[in-house]
Amino acid sequence: MQINLVSDTVTKPSYEMLQYMFNADVGDDVYKEDPSVIELEERVAAVFGMEAALFFPSGTMANQTAIKLHTQPGEQLIADKYSHIFHFEAGGVSFNSGVSCCLLEGNRGMITAEQIEGAINKPDFYHSPLTSLVCLENTTNIGGGACYEMEELEKIKAVCEANNLKLHLDGARIWNALVAKRQNPKDFGRIFDTISVCFSKGLGAPVGSVLLGDKKTIQRALRIRKVLGGAMRQSGYLAAGAIYALENNIKLLTEDHRRAKELANILKKKSWVASVEPVETNILIFSLVPEYNDETFIEKLKQKNISISSVGNRKLRMVTHLDYREVMHTYVIESLSKL
Ligand SMILES: *Cc1c(COP(=O)(O)O)cnc(C)c1O
Repeated sequence: MQINLVSDTVTKPSYEMLQYMFNADVGDDVYKEDPSVIELEERVAAVFGMEAALFFPSGTMANQTAIKLHTQPGEQLIADKYSHIFHFEAGGVSFNSGVSCCLLEGNRGMITAEQIEGAINKPDFYHSPLTSLVCLENTTNIGGGACYEMEELEKIKAVCEANNLKLHLDGARIWNALVAKRQNPKDFGRIFDTISVCFSKGLGAPVGSVLLGDKKTIQRALRIRKVLGGAMRQSGYLAAGAIYALENNIKLLTEDHRRAKELANILKKKSWVASVEPVETNILIFSLVPEYNDETFIEKLKQKNISISSVGNRKLRMVTHLDYREVMHTYVIESLSKL
């Protein structure tokens, strides 16, 4: 039994999901003639109460398209210093959009309305780049699966409106936040100009993200997706995996969250653990006491067929997911208890 807690992206499509994909009705989506892609786009737009949606091969491409939609070269966006768009999209913010990032020191990957307000460059001070966009992440990735309070998001929206800024949500794990905090997706749809959501993380589809926005914005996104090479032909097979995930796998996220919390509780009792960050969803970040070496620890777990990862700064990460089942969980708890 190999147990992979490195990321929730390691999930493989189940037999039932593959069966559903196999039976998908498809067409050429470049001509907008793929019924499965159209169905997915319509369904996700309806969930968030937004006008339109567009299917993408990756979350990175959906985020990069959003940044291009909302900015002009030379402008600046505001984000948390750990944000995926800055760290893990290969410099795409500058490469694709010619935009710089003003990075804020957030709390577990989350930034506040007050911090954002203080970071906006004065629009008539022509020496500074023009601030035009705010990008938030929910749940946060390197921040450890933390979720924003709706109240803070409303405040951030007000700051953006008052300062003529667009607001984008990197919602790769928005499903985890919706389940953990029992929030209404339509509130997110109302607050954000664009939202990217992912199906290949905790929801277990092999490929796919969707970008949401109003009709005009998504019409423009179509051209940017084409430029980036993301217009696909019979992508309905992939969209079908996402539809299956939407229908069947969202409710299973609560199990991932419970297991992550249980792992955190075990670690908290261990003398070799220095700290465990609060667990709100499926990501658990912890650190070892100074006498313990991270690499040695990771290797030790590897010998027990358990893979985990380091996220730098002496922080280790475990991510629970659809393919991390109860038998595996029992085994990991036992193994950690004995260490
Ligand atoms: C995984 C992830 C993405 C998108 O990643 P892709 O691998 O390109 O699909 C975007 N944002 C966050 C926070 C993520 O964790």
